[in-house]
Amino acid sequence: MAWSSSNRDARFNPGWERTRKQILERDRYRCQWIVTDWHTGAKHICGYSANEVDHKVRAKNGEPDDDSPSNLWALCPYHHSQKTAQESAEQRRMNRERRKEEQWYSHPAFQ
Ligand SMILES: [Zn+2]
Repeated sequence: MAWSSSNRDARFNPGWERTRKQILERDRYRCQWIVTDWHTGAKHICGYSANEVDHKVRAKNGEPDDDSPSNLWALCPYHHSQKTAQESAEQRRMNRERRKEEQWYSHPAFQ
């Protein structure tokens, strides 16, 4: 499941494996996802055992992702899959809007 994104990262950054390890060590193999406590509203990190490194902000339009440490964090499998699902939903939404726009401009009024 994490394969597609790791392969993508590897393609853009040959040193990805090393970067990945650095980030995991920086974050002490703990998930950095910010969780808001249901009762108190206090924010804390998830802290669950993490073995995946994720881009906080993914690049748009097929540009290479920003692999600088400030854009990378360790995530547990649960939060990583949550975020990936959110990102692909966002991607689908953007694709839908692009299609709508194309339909609009292919309208006879614009020909
Ligand atoms: Zn987590």
